[in-house]
Amino acid sequence: MAKIYRNIAILTGAGISAESGLATFRSSNGLWNNHKVEDVASIEGFQHNPALVHDFYNNLKTEIQQAKPNAAHLALTKLQKEYPAEINIITQNVDTLHEKAENQNVFHIHGQINQAVCLNCGQVLEAWGDVDTETVCPHCQVMGMMKPNIVFFGENLLCMDKVEDILRKCELFISIGTSGVVYPAAGFVQLAKYYGADTVEFTLDTTANNYLFDKHIFGKAGETLPPYIEELIKNAE
Ligand code: NAD
Repeated sequence: MAKIYRNIAILTGAGISAESGLATFRSSNGLWNNHKVEDVASIEGFQHNPALVHDFYNNLKTEIQQAKPNAAHLALTKLQKEYPAEINIITQNVDTLHEKAENQNVFHIHGQINQAVCLNCGQVLEAWGDVDTETVCPHCQVMGMMKPNIVFFGENLLCMDKVEDILRKCELFISIGTSGVVYPAAGFVQLAKYYGADTVEFTLDTTANNYLFDKHIFGKAGETLPPYIEELIKNAE
């Protein structure tokens, strides 16, 4: 008899948004949207050249604002509506495609493209418009201290208390479109497994932490995830 899960954790990475037209983190030449990852996604890179980093995220923001959720995001919407379990989504993605697909309980551990944080007063602001080195914080009125609310290499992840709770409680851990290279997110599967969860991954290529998954489903998540979700729902009926 198929197992019924009372608690499901889903970890998503850049791969789930690939079919929405957004580039994954490291293409084969080691670049992200034609930039060196260290230049645009590290705290040292930001300190060295904040104007370049602002420019990169302002451009990415425009691209992301136009992107639409794909069949994989929508399959998660269906799962959350039709499967009788607590279902949390931990995402490494800074895009807002889970929200556009009306997914619930989404935790952005690497931040969100549509937010900026003031390094002077700590205020987080919704910012779909451009942010640059001359932007004045509307909260503390200091100029030039705004940073995209993106967690750079060298910074702590967001929502980690909640994430640890999710990983401890889940009975099924599903990873979608993440290479298992960027820690600590790459270690989440290990924690979930330690606490007894079944583990499954959806990926195009072999991942760095594949030995921690009970099941591997290769292919585009927009094609492989919907039938898997249908089956899960059918088994719970
Ligand atoms: P990654 O680029 O390292 O790995 C992508 C993974 O997705 C690979 O394993 C690949 O095989 C798989 N993949 C690619 N296309 C797929 C598809 N159509 N279906 C299923 N799997 C597919 O990405 P990562 O592990 O998420 O790296 C983490 C970092 O990337 C995070 O810090 C995140 O903030 C950042 N990032 C986010 C976005 C976004 O918000 N959309 C985009 C690029 C990078």
